[in-house]
Amino acid sequence: MAESLNPSRRRFLELGSAALASGALAAHGQTQQEVKEGEHSSSASLPRGKENAPLFDENPDSAMPPATDHGSIPTFKYPFTLAHKRIEPGGWTRQVTVADLHVAKEIAGVQMRLIAGGIRELHWHRASEWALMLYGNARITCIDPDGRSFVDDVKEGDIWNFPSGYPHSIQGLGPDGCEFLLVFDDGSFDEYETVLLTDWMGHTPPEVLAKNFGVPASAFPALPPEGRYIFPGTMPGALGADQKAAQGNLGPSRLPFDFRLMEMPPTKKTRGGEVRIVDGGNFKASPQIAAAHVILHPGGLREMHWHPNADEWQYFVKGKGRMTVFAAAGRARTMDFEQGDVGYVQQTFPHYIENTGDTDLVFLELFKDSRYQDVSLANWLTHVPAQLVIDHLKISQATLDHFPHEETVVMP
Ligand code: MN
Ligand code: MN
Repeated sequence: MAESLNPSRRRFLELGSAALASGALAAHGQTQQEVKEGEHSSSASLPRGKENAPLFDENPDSAMPPATDHGSIPTFKYPFTLAHKRIEPGGWTRQVTVADLHVAKEIAGVQMRLIAGGIRELHWHRASEWALMLYGNARITCIDPDGRSFVDDVKEGDIWNFPSGYPHSIQGLGPDGCEFLLVFDDGSFDEYETVLLTDWMGHTPPEVLAKNFGVPASAFPALPPEGRYIFPGTMPGALGADQKAAQGNLGPSRLPFDFRLMEMPPTKKTRGGEVRIVDGGNFKASPQIAAAHVILHPGGLREMHWHPNADEWQYFVKGKGRMTVFAAAGRARTMDFEQGDVGYVQQTFPHYIENTGDTDLVFLELFKDSRYQDVSLANWLTHVPAQLVIDHLKISQATLDHFPHEETVVMP
């Protein structure tokens, strides 16, 4: 360890482990928080009061780290609230990329709001686009490489995935448009540099457009120099009519690009919460992004685990929680999260997430991989020879017997 523990901190750690093992903290009506503050009371005092008090109160584990935190780990949190909001007549958008959150190299995210009738322009991009509807209704369109069309309506709790290079659009429906989260499998993705239909057409000589479409050049009015991007459009009619018109003689795309995530039964459900896992196995149109949608009830814990295959990009949909990431060599950092925050954990770094509020904590885990994979600490320790674990942790066989003997995902 780079820093040596000071005597008061060491005392806390010893008291903490001994007391937790015997249940003494609970027996004395004393919480871990009270012990921690007591131990830090002189060196961690705040003679000038709280700096930026609202931020301080929202980030208690940064303002006053738990005694088990140690060493330097760069931030793995970025609130969308801090991102610039681009406001257009048809809605707004903002993004969190590696430029904002430096650890987030594999995935970037975008929030977008479209008013009723508001259109996110026909466009495409190199990154794969995974999305969760957070509010309202939208009509989405795409075509596959066979030229077959896809048109569907999505509502809160539905997801979609548009693979790399597939052109698509999103339009807000009644009564109040929509808000959604977009996730891209590239931390350097830039929502403002996608290929827009009108941007491209506007930078093509009219005589080429005329030749390409077999109509007179005069048929094309001038287009805005940088495309329309997000703009108010005409409210679409019945879904069936739009689907039929878009299909023409080719028929619909064989692969649906959307998925009713919240209509799927939980992949795992315990007293503490539930998780839905969606990846290339059950959602064929998402071969590049795997996801877990987690609901943690108050007091619930997303168990100690890590991911062998990819970095984890998180979006906190609602509620309050905290996560500790352990980065080896004595380094551990705890950060607090709530609605609209992005979190990030590097591949193989162990972590857990605790619901610290009094309502459900709902969050997404996203991975740049075709399959969801994790390793549960409890499952691992109960699937190696018991004596090996006992020799490491100096616990009794009875304690080890009480560990969950499978991956629970959510405890208790
Ligand atoms: Mn897109
Ligand atoms: Mn995880």
